[in-house]
Amino acid sequence: MKIVKQIILPVLAVIVLTACGDKQQAASSDEAVATQTFKWKMVTSWPKNFPGLGLAPEKFAQYVSEMSNGRLQVQVFGAGELVPGFEVFDAVSQGTVQMGHSGPYYWKGKIPASPIFGAMPFGMTATELNAWLHYGGGLELWQQLYKPFGIIPLAGGNSGAQFAGWFKKEINTIDDLKGLKMRIPGIGGEVLQRAGGVPINLPGGEIFSALQSGAIDGTEWVGPYNDLAFGFYQAAEYYYSSVWHEPGTALEFLINEKAFNELPKDLQKIVTVAARAVNEDTLDEYNARNNNAMKQLIEKHNVQIKELPAPVLAELKRFSDEVIAEQVAADEGFAKVWASYSAFLADIRDYHNKTLKPYFENR
Ligand code: CA
Repeated sequence: MKIVKQIILPVLAVIVLTACGDKQQAASSDEAVATQTFKWKMVTSWPKNFPGLGLAPEKFAQYVSEMSNGRLQVQVFGAGELVPGFEVFDAVSQGTVQMGHSGPYYWKGKIPASPIFGAMPFGMTATELNAWLHYGGGLELWQQLYKPFGIIPLAGGNSGAQFAGWFKKEINTIDDLKGLKMRIPGIGGEVLQRAGGVPINLPGGEIFSALQSGAIDGTEWVGPYNDLAFGFYQAAEYYYSSVWHEPGTALEFLINEKAFNELPKDLQKIVTVAARAVNEDTLDEYNARNNNAMKQLIEKHNVQIKELPAPVLAELKRFSDEVIAEQVAADEGFAKVWASYSAFLADIRDYHNKTLKPYFENR
């Protein structure tokens, strides 16, 4: 027995000491992780602190700082402060900055399928798009698509249904769109082109002066909350509320993959959960503020709110189907994402046709 004790006790002691050592080491490396701080830069495609669009990245920075107790600080830059609004994607891809906040359809020249994650003419509403992204496989497809660029995309807010926009003349027939120079990005712009119009892509901050000078005859932007902020009512007489080209537009957070991988696990989780919170919060904000802003436009600024005639919308739908069919044939990536999106849309449209559509008419 004595011999056994003499052998076992030192062995046990070694085991216990080793275990303590491991624990101490683990504790001290946890402490190192817990005190390491990260300073990130986020560039955006919006004027600094612009209502809705520009507040989403500010909110994200605030949430992340508070949840991480200051271990991850994100400094937000407006369009043009560090890079121009349309160079956000490249800046994140190249690692010039760690994050960006923008709209997926701005990158269609680089990635033809990217507009599907933002807004498709006659496509999903905000609620439907969020359902597809987070429970229908959409986000996985989006992340696969941006992976070759070293970027992780996350949904970064939704504007809800957008207005058809501001025009200097009335739109009574599809022929009224012929030769019309209009600021309209994404697939919507291609549909306008099919109708004989001239789509022009301008960052938000450049639209008002282009409309006022007559460089463009019309513009879409977002909806009353954002359009009031830019003062478009001073430059165009007719405001069309019809929803067609952007029925629920998703914004995006772009994260440099390498920078994300360098974060400890808890900060990674804080980043993804903060993005998800801002995604919902932004939609709530738009829903709350749009109707109030529309009242102000009508009552204070005498804006005429009009609807596009049904035959014009039917023609736009027909052109839209044509443009999408051509994109599917031309690009494998577009075809893959569209297959998932359109299948989800068909199902959820049937569901909402049986539920919300009659409800909206009955309440
Ligand atoms: Ca828009």
